[in-house]
Amino acid sequence: MTEQLRPDGSLRHLLTLETLSRAQLERLLDRAQTFVRPLGERPPRTQALAGLTVANLFTEPSTRTRVSFELAAKRLGAEVVNLEVQLSSRVKGESMLDTVYTLQSLHVDALVIRDAEAGVPGLVAGHVAPHVSVLSAGEAHVSHPTQGLLDTLTIYQRKQRFAGLAVAIVGDVRHSRVARSAWHALRALGVADVRLVGPAALMPAANEFEGCARFRSIGRGLEGVDVIMMLRIQKERFGDADVPDGEKYFAAWGLTPERLALARPDAIVMHPQPMNRGIEIASEVADGAQSVIRDQVRNGVAVRMAVLAEVLGARRA
Ligand code: ASP
Repeated sequence: MTEQLRPDGSLRHLLTLETLSRAQLERLLDRAQTFVRPLGERPPRTQALAGLTVANLFTEPSTRTRVSFELAAKRLGAEVVNLEVQLSSRVKGESMLDTVYTLQSLHVDALVIRDAEAGVPGLVAGHVAPHVSVLSAGEAHVSHPTQGLLDTLTIYQRKQRFAGLAVAIVGDVRHSRVARSAWHALRALGVADVRLVGPAALMPAANEFEGCARFRSIGRGLEGVDVIMMLRIQKERFGDADVPDGEKYFAAWGLTPERLALARPDAIVMHPQPMNRGIEIASEVADGAQSVIRDQVRNGVAVRMAVLAEVLGARRA
């Protein structure tokens, strides 16, 4: 795996949360919190990254992540270029690196990469010049580190602690990079009770998510939890396997007000979006008082500002 840290211990790339320590995660979350403002207030703006350039290189669709990386970079004073590239898979590795070298020659300082194939952000990080940083904006089913940070920031804002929380991750865990990054962060931050709730076909391999209890019934899985993280059925990652029927899935696994009532009364409901209303989650719950789904989006910009400031801050000179 490509090393994310510089020899002095500072963060150079962000490819995964798996190897970050609790102290490193807390530092990023604390920094992100300084960029959070209530809605209606002007978001913070600085010139901390003036003169630097960030390129968003996305080969998979994205709305929130792309836009929030762009806004984050602009609010720190950096220039931004957005590239949505379609590369045939046969030549992908090679042409991705050619694109990266081109961007590097154009004085790009950070590359934000989303790709459906595992290993691409790490491959790029292993080839860029020493002054260039690579940030993963979603790598196949493997990781989505800024999502993991925005999810844990959202939890902390509401709960003011990690110790002692019970978190249920519900749905298509098998194909979810969101679940994997959330779990890496929650584990490092001291959440011992992380439950995986979903049908057997959508559970990850037995050697993944070590120590998480697995529930085959949503009712039992949600009992007494503080946090419910709903996941989208990742149809695009099913290959030849059958995608569950939406109506049947909702009947067995959808988050309804009745099921939500099994969690703690102050439990929060999260979803990374895009949401399939009426399949994973009922609209009353998605838009209800316990939903923090819109906070997650707001926190996404703050987290991406923190990460960009962290990896590029030292490049000011
Ligand atoms: N937006 C998230 C992701 O990129 C979740 C999803 O697509 O379901 O992984």
